[in-house]
Amino acid sequence: MRKIQMVDLQTQYQFIKPQVDAGMQEVLSSTQFINGPAVKTFQTNLEEYLGVKHVIPCANGTDALQIAMMGLGLKPGDEVITADFTFAATVEVIALLGLTPVLVDVLPDTFNIDPDAIENAITSNTKAIVPVHLFGQVADMERIMDIAHRHNLYVIEDNAQGIGANYTGKEGVKIKTGGIGHVGSTSFFPSKNLGCYGDGGAIFTNDDDLAHIIRGVVNHGMYKRYHHDVVGVNSRLDSLQAVVLNEKLKLLDFYNERRKWAAIRYTQLLENHPKIITPVTSGDCDSHVYHQYTLRLIDTDRDAVVAHFQGLDIPCGVYYPIPLHLQKAYTDTRYSEADFSVTNQLIKEVISLPMHSELDEEQIQYICKTLLTFLG
Ligand SMILES: *Cc1c(COP(=O)(O)O)cnc(C)c1O
Repeated sequence: MRKIQMVDLQTQYQFIKPQVDAGMQEVLSSTQFINGPAVKTFQTNLEEYLGVKHVIPCANGTDALQIAMMGLGLKPGDEVITADFTFAATVEVIALLGLTPVLVDVLPDTFNIDPDAIENAITSNTKAIVPVHLFGQVADMERIMDIAHRHNLYVIEDNAQGIGANYTGKEGVKIKTGGIGHVGSTSFFPSKNLGCYGDGGAIFTNDDDLAHIIRGVVNHGMYKRYHHDVVGVNSRLDSLQAVVLNEKLKLLDFYNERRKWAAIRYTQLLENHPKIITPVTSGDCDSHVYHQYTLRLIDTDRDAVVAHFQGLDIPCGVYYPIPLHLQKAYTDTRYSEADFSVTNQLIKEVISLPMHSELDEEQIQYICKTLLTFLG
């Protein structure tokens, strides 16, 4: 059996090595390291893939979120509602901009932000909602967009884990995640479904005016050289990363299909155990791209399972072990523990199994057998 890894970037690289190496060599020879032709090509390719009017590449997924919020003109004191159960980057940029993060609970089946909790948290200061398509599954965008519409709020999709997933809208029209709200963001961190060989990110929008503002924000607030109209940042995707992303974008649907196959196999092997809740796909089968395959272990010492896996050299992850409302940086007297009953439960139960496009049947069977034997 091949060694099991949480993600297998090496095998993935070997598959595209000739194209990536040649493309990188071209960048090295041209010395157009910043804003070279590969970046522009990638931007266009991604716009086409996502069916979105504007893609603005930037340096990483955290910047992408921050820049999206800057582009919308959110101001200190504005409240931004997001999920308690997500990676800290989402809430970090809200706080960094002097906005007020308002954390709310998630749903126990999809792990995504709870629309009822969003409604309950809205005040006269609320300006935006940040749904995260957690673990690769589309959040309940129909209800979120409806709430946003009724309360006149912006929706910023944190699509760092969901790239390639489809949302099926009202008339059965499919929209790729990241292009549903007013603005979307993603990360090209190496382990993401579309990852480069360093840091990278992008912002998406169908709004021409917002796209124009954001193109300035990423470049020191410049719309005309050396004229700084707004406070901006320096956030760019470099040409070497764009080479990798151009190659990998061609394979994104293939990668996501492979992940889905692995997820289906895991579920087939694990779904009938009384202590295991396998991931729920709430929408169509293409609404989940399995950035993570995350189980809930019921009445089980989850950390003992993690230790057992570690002892056998089987990697696994706990995403996320501490809810954001309990992180020192993000506590707030407005919260009570009762507001987060689902998150507080999930952090004790979740375990993410190895998930990537190179997993094979033998590895999946071994992982499942190990878990089932341990649980008894
Ligand atoms: C990875 C991730 C980010 C941040 O992306 P970076 O490129 O690492 O800055 C933001 N939000 C979520 C949900 C993520 O998973």
